[in-house]
Amino acid sequence: MGGEWAPAGNGGTFAVNNPATGESLGTVPDMTAADARQAIAAAEAAFPEWSAMPARKRSQLLRKWFDLIQQHADDLAALLTGEQGKPHAEAKGEVLGGAAYVEWFAEEAKRIEGDVLSPQTSSQREVILKQPVGVVGAITPWNFPSSMITRKVSPALAAGCPVVIKPAEDTPLSALALAELAHRAGIPAGVVNVVTASHGADVGKELSTNPTVRKLSFTGSTAVGKLLMSQASDTVKKVSLELGGNAPFLVFDDADLDGAVKAATMMKFINTGQTCICVNRLMVHENVYDAFMERFTAAVDYLNVGNGAEKGVTTGPLINDKGLEKVESLVSDAVAKGAKAVRGGKRHDLGGTFYEPTVLTDVKPEMACFGNEIFGPVAPVYKFSSEDEAVRLANDTPYGLAAYFFTKDAGRMWRVGEALEYGMVACNTARFVHEAMPFGGFKESGIGREGSKYGIEEYLETKFLCMGGL
Ligand code: NAP
Repeated sequence: MGGEWAPAGNGGTFAVNNPATGESLGTVPDMTAADARQAIAAAEAAFPEWSAMPARKRSQLLRKWFDLIQQHADDLAALLTGEQGKPHAEAKGEVLGGAAYVEWFAEEAKRIEGDVLSPQTSSQREVILKQPVGVVGAITPWNFPSSMITRKVSPALAAGCPVVIKPAEDTPLSALALAELAHRAGIPAGVVNVVTASHGADVGKELSTNPTVRKLSFTGSTAVGKLLMSQASDTVKKVSLELGGNAPFLVFDDADLDGAVKAATMMKFINTGQTCICVNRLMVHENVYDAFMERFTAAVDYLNVGNGAEKGVTTGPLINDKGLEKVESLVSDAVAKGAKAVRGGKRHDLGGTFYEPTVLTDVKPEMACFGNEIFGPVAPVYKFSSEDEAVRLANDTPYGLAAYFFTKDAGRMWRVGEALEYGMVACNTARFVHEAMPFGGFKESGIGREGSKYGIEEYLETKFLCMGGL
């Protein structure tokens, strides 16, 4: 806070645990709304100097931060695996992928441009300026403890806004490490502040109601996003929301089945199924259903569950007991309604929060796993008979984040690509996330976009300036 390490005002701390081993990694300050107010004041004090700094200089500081994240990628990845559980290779991929946003927005800082209007009268000239919105509150989840922070903080800083970050209770260490590196990069005191807390709601309420905060950027569940949006309405803050998903993955009968199996396995089980763009519902055409299932279950058999710090592990534990119980209840609901677990279906022998990679067949749309975000290593598979049916079911959800489909028919690529009501649609691939694309959702999956040329707009105000009497 304000460039200093600070304890919680009331002296409280909480432990950060390794979900794979249950060991404590250390403690961090357990901050309250009063501490959040201090962090907001520090950011407010930093705003005039930071926003007035020439764009080129802000860009250079962001570039130094990017270099330091890259230099320390192995340590940051080890820390991330320790507090979050994902395999080291995935953790390093997240750190480097997150750093790419810092590099991107270091460049974008120099490209914030307004407009000059054609004169409407001879005595007047009119321009449109882009100005930083002010202090930003950033609330982030535990499933991407590093990249969700860089995605918000780097465009905010590039635009000239200081930030107050509230990381998830389970994963505050990655946030603190990134803030330390920002400090070492020379980003001035008060521009990046982190408030760690075990009671997210108190600090979240402060960030979403304090009038000094002019922009709230949140990534997390749809339920909390709705609450924050309503809390932010009293002070009419700008809000960006990256919320939950219910990604369909459609396999048509002309699809490259090997490609579809590879993509579905990767995008279902990455991060143990705990990403917002993870495949939530596999939908396979009846003509290729048996062939697909044979190859998909064989691919699932190759997954290696264990501590993400160990070599060869592909699938770590779930983040906590709550996550485990949610997965268990969705599987038992499906099985009670007639689904069959052809792989997995129960807690893993490793104990703790480990769960077996699971494949459910005979899935019906009325099962809870079809309409709710599973956030675990469970693949429900539904058999469809026509393109219309597949698209109708894929869209029959309040969510609209990511969708996938496999087909070789060029006409269908366009038809289905346009018909899916999702912010991000991937055809014949499941790899599409990078800093140059606009990440975000339709419907209840969110508001706004992160990354790309659009990402910085979220942190800018548009001002009309009219000069008369010429
Ligand atoms: P979450 O429970 O909504 O928590 C997200 C953040 O909000 C955490 O920092 C949490 O703090 C805080 N929080 C919780 N309750 C709050 C409240 N009442 N007021 C203010 N802040 C509050 O979500 P999660 O379980 O961490 O993350 C998983 C969800 O995030 C999934 O739904 C996933 O789809 C979504 N997600 C979306 C994207 C995207 O880009 N669309 C990316 C990643 C994840 P505590 O940790 O202290 O509870």
